[in-house]
Amino acid sequence: MIQYSVFPEGKRRIVTFSFDDGQNGDRRLADIFRKYGVKGTFHLNGSMYKNMSDEELKARAAWYDGMEISCHTYSHLSPLVTSKTALVTEIMKDREILERMAGYPVVGMSYPYGFYSDEIVRIAEDCGIVYSRTTKDNGFGLPVNFMTWHPSCKHTTAETAIETFFQRNDSVRSPLLYIWGHSFEFKTEEDWARIESIVASVAGRDDTWYATNIEIYRYTEAVKRLVISTDEKTFYNPSVLDVYIEVDRKEVKIPAGQTVRL
Ligand SMILES: [Zn+2]
Repeated sequence: MIQYSVFPEGKRRIVTFSFDDGQNGDRRLADIFRKYGVKGTFHLNGSMYKNMSDEELKARAAWYDGMEISCHTYSHLSPLVTSKTALVTEIMKDREILERMAGYPVVGMSYPYGFYSDEIVRIAEDCGIVYSRTTKDNGFGLPVNFMTWHPSCKHTTAETAIETFFQRNDSVRSPLLYIWGHSFEFKTEEDWARIESIVASVAGRDDTWYATNIEIYRYTEAVKRLVISTDEKTFYNPSVLDVYIEVDRKEVKIPAGQTVRL
């Protein structure tokens, strides 16, 4: 029997964070993530950086070293009350300035206010967006559709979710703990102590892959692209990422670009 819910280096669980709106607290939060070896994605509104020089943008990008910079529309307009044309502009202008900041193609997003519809999804896809997060709590499964990626919980209820997640024994169906929020909600030292203890409590586990949102998307796509023989004994991995699967309870690595015969 083949099992595909295996992640880089054979890890069985994934933890990811995602924080919206790019406020000053991001700097301290990203420091906490790096301190504990976890990763997160920061969804930013480009209009905040419109007057920055390239040098200032680079300095801001350093806040997010090791993390992912991602879209949240240029000026945080509600996609529900925005015209189609304006939404295209909002996403493309956001991508443009964030790409100057990040130095790589920025193709992830989270919906401002969590609002989305079929049409909003289509527009975002046409703008090159490959995943977008909502604000709807939805357990620990990998997303069925990355364009409506529902997280596990907000940081405000993270402790309960963390306990449930690590106690579960069904990492095949429920491998992903996804905590989202806003760093501007951490106002007092108690708030900061709480988020640090949340991060510390998920960190340092041997069976867990700490990944940004886009890394999860790209790994999942690489697994989907595996080419499998009819007898399910030969696997060709056409992607640039090593892929891991489990066959008859044994872990198998299928290196990028290679064919593996069991
Ligand atoms: Zn927001």
